[in-house]
Amino acid sequence: MNLELSEEQTAVRRLARDFVEREIAPHVVDWDRAESVDRSIVKKLGEVGFLGLTVDEEYGGSGGDHLAYCLVTEELGRGDSSVRGIVSVSLGLVAKTIAAWGSEEQKRRWLPGLTAGEYVGCFGLTEPGTGSDAGNLATRAVRDGDHYVLDGTKMFITNGTWADVVLLFARSTDAPGHKGVTAFLVPTDTPGLTRRTVHGKLGLRGQATAELVLEGVRVPASAMLGPEGKGFTVAMSALAKGRMSVAAGCVGIAQAALDAAVRYAGEREQFGRPIAHHQLVQELLSDIAVDVDAARLLTWRVADLVDRGLPFATEASKAKLFASEAAVRAANNALQVFGGYGYIDEYPVGKLLRDARVMTLYEGTSQIQKLLIGRALTGVSAF
Ligand code: FAD
Repeated sequence: MNLELSEEQTAVRRLARDFVEREIAPHVVDWDRAESVDRSIVKKLGEVGFLGLTVDEEYGGSGGDHLAYCLVTEELGRGDSSVRGIVSVSLGLVAKTIAAWGSEEQKRRWLPGLTAGEYVGCFGLTEPGTGSDAGNLATRAVRDGDHYVLDGTKMFITNGTWADVVLLFARSTDAPGHKGVTAFLVPTDTPGLTRRTVHGKLGLRGQATAELVLEGVRVPASAMLGPEGKGFTVAMSALAKGRMSVAAGCVGIAQAALDAAVRYAGEREQFGRPIAHHQLVQELLSDIAVDVDAARLLTWRVADLVDRGLPFATEASKAKLFASEAAVRAANNALQVFGGYGYIDEYPVGKLLRDARVMTLYEGTSQIQKLLIGRALTGVSAF
């Protein structure tokens, strides 16, 4: 693997860095306190091309490879994980899954709007009763002539209150495939679909997380994404790439923690000199730096495998597992460097820690990643 970035990749990283400086950094504390990022950021992300990365230009995408996608995701994660999540879900989990599994009609219906930031997408898999055991979901899809009728509840859905379309997973009663799970593209203005904001999150406070309730929601059979009964495969293929995106966002968190901690250690004086002169502070900084590099290299390897069309799912689990745990460690170490000031939100590291924590939970908890890696190593499923 060539570790040198190409000119295009360097340029896209510069574009993302400038975007974060201009459009995100000045608002991060306010958005966190207000429990909502400014919705206009979605359109701006679309205009700059970040919601169309790796999607064909024919469908409104901005092209690019998966390493470029990871570079942008890292920069957004460095700026604000709530904004990063909008891209990881609307592009990473929804648009890219439509591009991979959708009919021509579905691609033309949804992709130009999603990549332009005119539409927001959300990914509805988790339910109140099924999280890690996602294949056991209870939402039902009952065939009625040319339509399906959907009933059920989805929990913790990122972008949920803003979304125009839900990539929804339901148990299709007459499906012959794996566990009968089928994927549907459901416009959120369909009668019978209601949404409730999930308040009180530890982190990612700026993100619109929702509970979705479906009561007799009728969609045409043409809303099915991929074959009937193949929805679990659709979901797992989306999540494998999604884990690469989460890992890249975690690298951004860890890098932000390192930048802030190094800067502060050079400025803050105790015992007559900057705290950077104390060996135990240097230990904290060096631990963060190693976590950043290791997480980034694992993530770039996944992007390289994807771009070369090679199997990548287990490597994505390794990258997500390591990078999410590393982001928590890095933010926690940075908070230690800040002392008491790290504990108040005028300084950035407390938010980094709060935002990092969920990365070990969603898109498969750390335990689930270990079971996936263990299954690949042994051939034994220990779920
Ligand atoms: P559970 O599955 O109940 O797990 C509880 C604990 O048990 C965990 O520690 C877990 O690792 C452990 N555990 C479970 N099974 C095993 C096992 N077999 N072996 C060992 N340990 C096990 N979901 C979506 O569909 N779309 C979204 O956009 C989305 N966004 C989210 C945003 C936020 C902020 C949050 C908090 C969650 C989001 N989720 C989303 C849901 C997320 O993916 C789930 O929370 C996650 O999969 C874990 O499920 P659970 O919370 O039900 O925990």
